[in-house]
Amino acid sequence: MGSKALEKFLKENLDDLKSKGLYNEINVLQGANGPIIKIKGKDLINLSSNNYLGLASDERMKRASIEATEVYGVGAGAVRTINGTLEIHNELERKLAEFKHTEAAIAFQSGFNCNAGAIQAVMNKKDAILSDELNHASIIDGCRLSGAKVIRYNHNDMNDLREKAKAARESGLYNKLMVISDGVFSMDGDVVDLPGMVKVAEELDLITYIDDAHGSGVMGKGAGTVKHFGLSHKIDFQIGTLSKAIGVVGGYVAGSQDLIDWLKVRARPFLFSTSLTPSAAGACIEALRIMTESTELHDRLWDNGNYLKAGLKKLGFNIGKSETPITPCIIGDEKLTQEFSKRLIEEGVYAKSIVFPTVPLGTGRVRNMPTAAHTKEMLDNALAIYEKVGKELNVIK
Ligand SMILES: *Cc1c(COP(=O)(O)O)cnc(C)c1O
Repeated sequence: MGSKALEKFLKENLDDLKSKGLYNEINVLQGANGPIIKIKGKDLINLSSNNYLGLASDERMKRASIEATEVYGVGAGAVRTINGTLEIHNELERKLAEFKHTEAAIAFQSGFNCNAGAIQAVMNKKDAILSDELNHASIIDGCRLSGAKVIRYNHNDMNDLREKAKAARESGLYNKLMVISDGVFSMDGDVVDLPGMVKVAEELDLITYIDDAHGSGVMGKGAGTVKHFGLSHKIDFQIGTLSKAIGVVGGYVAGSQDLIDWLKVRARPFLFSTSLTPSAAGACIEALRIMTESTELHDRLWDNGNYLKAGLKKLGFNIGKSETPITPCIIGDEKLTQEFSKRLIEEGVYAKSIVFPTVPLGTGRVRNMPTAAHTKEMLDNALAIYEKVGKELNVIK
C-alpha cells in the first residue's frame, strides 16, 4: 500500500486533466522516426519530428553507431571525470569545436543537461540573467538552478533588452550580467536578432549565451545561427543539441578553452551523470562528417521547407513569420486547432497542435517540421490533406 496523500494527489490531478481534455495520450511509433511513420498500424506523413536532415535512421549513421559499439561497448561505464571519458568522447568534442569554429567544446548527455549545467557553473545569486520571454523550458530551469535573478525581456526585442540590462547594471545590485536566448525559436521558426544583441552586450558587458538547438544543421549552411551572422567570435556560450538535426542524442557547449576547462570541473551533469554511450558519440561524429562534407541534406531541407510554406500559403493558411523550415499553420482558437490536428492525423498527416500555454492564447497552431528526407510527393500529399481538412473545418475557403 502506497501513501494515501500521493494516491489522492494523483487521482485528483489526473481526473482534472482528463475531464478538461488536457491529458496527453502518447502515440507510439512502430519503427523509425522517418518521413513516414507507422502508428497503430497506419502509415502517416510525419511533420512533427526534429530529425531535420533525416539522419536519425541514415544507414551511414547506423554503421558508425555499430562500429563504435564494437570497439567501446554499449556503455561508458562511469561519469566523465572518473574514467568514463573514452577516446571517442574527446574526438567528438574536437570535431564539435571545429564545426562551431570555437577553441573547444564539451559534450553532455542532452541539450537539456547543457542548460542545467552550464548556466549555474558561471552564474550565482549575486548575478542577473536577461532571458527572452519565449526561451525553452530547459533554459528557464537552468536559470533557476543558478540562483541568479532572472529578468525576462520581450521576445527578441533588443530595445527592451537594452533598457532592462541598463537598469540592472545601474542598480548596482549584481556582479555579472548574462543574456540568454534561443537561436531559432521552435514555435514560430523565427531567428534571434543576434547583431542587435551583440551590440547591447558590448555596450553593457553582458555574457552572451545562445542555445541553438533548432539552428544547428539548419542555419549558417549547417554550422548554426551564430555562424549565419558571422559572430562566432562574439558569443561566449554556443549551446547545441545532438538530438535534432544531428539525429542522435546528447548536447554540447562550444566556446573558449578556458570556458570549457571550467565547465569540465563545475558542470554538474558532466560530473555526476554517466557520459554519452559510445554508440551515440560514434554516430554524432559521423553526422558531423556528413554535414561538413556536403550541404546536400541542408539544401534539401530548405528546399522542402520553402515548398511546404509556399503550398500552405497558396491554400490560404496563415503561416506566421517563420524564417526557417519550421512551418507553423496558425489556426487561432484552441479547440479548433486540436480538432484540425486530429483530422489531419485521421487523413494521414501527423502534425501536432500546439496551444496555450505553450503559445499565447488565441494563437493555437499546427506545427510542421519538414525534413530533408521528405519527397515532393509526400509534401504534395500532405498539402492535399491540408486543403481537404482546411475546407471541411472552414479554416480556408
Ligand atoms: C530541444 C531543445 C533543448 C533540449 O535538447 P535535448 O537534446 O532534446 O535535451 C534545449 N534547448 C532548446 C532551445 C531546444 O529546442
